[in-house]
Amino acid sequence: MDEKIKRLSELIHHSKNTVFFGGAGVSTESGIPDFRSEKGLYAAQKAYGHSPETLLSHSLFVEKPELFFRYYQENLIALHAKPNAAHLALAKLEQQGLLHAVITQNIDGLHQEAGSQRVYELHGSNWRQYCMDCSKNYTLPYILDEAHCKDKLIPICEVCGGIVRPEVVLYEESLDDTVVSGAIEAIAKADLLIVGGTSLAVYPAAGLLRYFKGKNLVLINKTKTPYDGEAQLCIHDSLGKVLGGISTL
Ligand SMILES: [Zn+2]
Repeated sequence: MDEKIKRLSELIHHSKNTVFFGGAGVSTESGIPDFRSEKGLYAAQKAYGHSPETLLSHSLFVEKPELFFRYYQENLIALHAKPNAAHLALAKLEQQGLLHAVITQNIDGLHQEAGSQRVYELHGSNWRQYCMDCSKNYTLPYILDEAHCKDKLIPICEVCGGIVRPEVVLYEESLDDTVVSGAIEAIAKADLLIVGGTSLAVYPAAGLLRYFKGKNLVLINKTKTPYDGEAQLCIHDSLGKVLGGISTL
């Protein structure tokens, strides 16, 4: 294992443009459960009668907003979660000029909290909320305050009374063009791409990998992925341990 961490460190130091692309596994070590995991799936069916895909779909949001907000608030917001060793290591690498960008599928804002500056949030962020009618921006604490919610659940705009929703991409909604182009450009220019905490099975992860034309692909994931064979380096271990390990070399 230490050999592999050493090899990763060498690759980072010898590359000119390194990009990190992360999935849910980056945040599970901060105590944020992966709602797409088998456990998350089971829990959603049992408590809400639907799969996470349905609960987080645009149609359900329109048809049953109370159910959407109940699931969203109870399962997708971890207000007190803190960045873990992986987030901190990535922020440090950026500061040292060794990491160009972070692309994430997570919506928890933990990369920014750790200090990362250039972050492409493919699925948006819990920390940005907006009124669907007048576009006024709100913060996360605003929507969590029952005083701002209809029936204690649906956040309402204090200016116009419209529904305040998270700037998070729901199923059936498209990703933000600017964010996607930025992420594609970063991947296309990278000579080292480190992919971590994703099985690469979920859209759009696998599709984005196609844009990588660089020399070295590194995969860090607890379990195998369909792309293991294409990687120059494959580490099946915890991201915090691997990325955190680089800084202690
Ligand atoms: Zn409004």
